[in-house]
Amino acid sequence: MSVSATERPTRILVDLDRIAGNLQRIRAHVRVPVMAIVKANAYGHGLVPVARHLQANGVDQLGVAFVEEGIALRRAGITVPILVLGGIFGPQIAQFIVHDLEITVSSVEKLRQVEAAAQALGRRAVVHLKIDTGMERIGVHEYSAGPFIETATASRWCEIKGVYSHLACADDPDAPMTALQLERFLDACAHFDRICAPMPLRHLANSGGVLHFPDTHLDLVRPGILVYGVMPDPASRPTIAVEPALSLVSRVVYFKVVRAGRTVSYGGSWTAPSDTRVVTVPLGYGDGYPRALSSRGRALIHGQSYPVVGRVCMDQFMVDIGSSSAWNEDEVVLIGRQGDASIRVEALASAAGTIPYELLTGLNDRIPREYIGGQALPAATAV
Ligand SMILES: *Cc1c(COP(=O)(O)O)cnc(C)c1O
Repeated sequence: MSVSATERPTRILVDLDRIAGNLQRIRAHVRVPVMAIVKANAYGHGLVPVARHLQANGVDQLGVAFVEEGIALRRAGITVPILVLGGIFGPQIAQFIVHDLEITVSSVEKLRQVEAAAQALGRRAVVHLKIDTGMERIGVHEYSAGPFIETATASRWCEIKGVYSHLACADDPDAPMTALQLERFLDACAHFDRICAPMPLRHLANSGGVLHFPDTHLDLVRPGILVYGVMPDPASRPTIAVEPALSLVSRVVYFKVVRAGRTVSYGGSWTAPSDTRVVTVPLGYGDGYPRALSSRGRALIHGQSYPVVGRVCMDQFMVDIGSSSAWNEDEVVLIGRQGDASIRVEALASAAGTIPYELLTGLNDRIPREYIGGQALPAATAV
């Protein structure tokens, strides 16, 4: 990695081969089709490049949160089926249909809105019915699912491709909630049989479900964070050997000796216990490196791990390298591997008092993304 005059030395490196490898391992494990979730800029990895690579590697379907994300994918030439997982607003429904995006229908009222929009356009809408089995977010409760499913199956303008629910506690293999949610979901699905309607694709499993609860795999799985090689929770069991795809790297921009007793950064919250060498890294909370990592984060320089000291600023923070040496432009790894040392996003998130999801999706567009791997792709789909 060289620093050119105009390129920011701080960057996110995304290893596309690792994402493809993770998809392969998930598929081998579940043996049902996979809808890879690429919402929130593909968990910070870059929506379009990741989606292209997943499509080139045979992903069955993609899932996003909002219609805007789906439209961005269609505009980028992504052709695989795309389900928008979030709740829908009436005025946006035509956009789903025009862009060939699958719609989550989460109430009878929304179903009516979709029907009206589809009829007005003269095109059938492809929908997945959302059942709420315990998340209490969106969806029709499983105990009210009968009339909902009956109304939907009678619709002339909605093609029911799927029926799904979302697990609230699957990150923890020991939580009893998942079995209960599965039972409620299957109970709701039984309405299709009761009214002799064809059973659509039943899907329930997020990454936690994929890892811990084989019974939830059903007809399709919806892993997100696992595709990127990250475990959903410290309690999760790594039953699939995925590898992290994202690294966050920067370079030393300043070196100094801080004398014993002097404080570092805003608020003077960290005091040098003795004369020590401190380097400055040009990255901060304005990029999504959490301020909560003040005196808690770690940085790798020359294959050694050093502590972040003092408050993380908007654009910079400081690292205490003790009596070690470092020079301006030396590589600093904040997430990922350097030599034999590594910083996992799971550990960093827990040091920041949050989860890897929030840390990854918080890494914003001020940091350029660079893609590695993916060369095996045909030219037309290469990233
Ligand atoms: C985000 C999301 C997923 C993926 O969750 P992970 O924990 O990242 O696997 C699956 N389904 C729905 C409905 C979601 O909102």
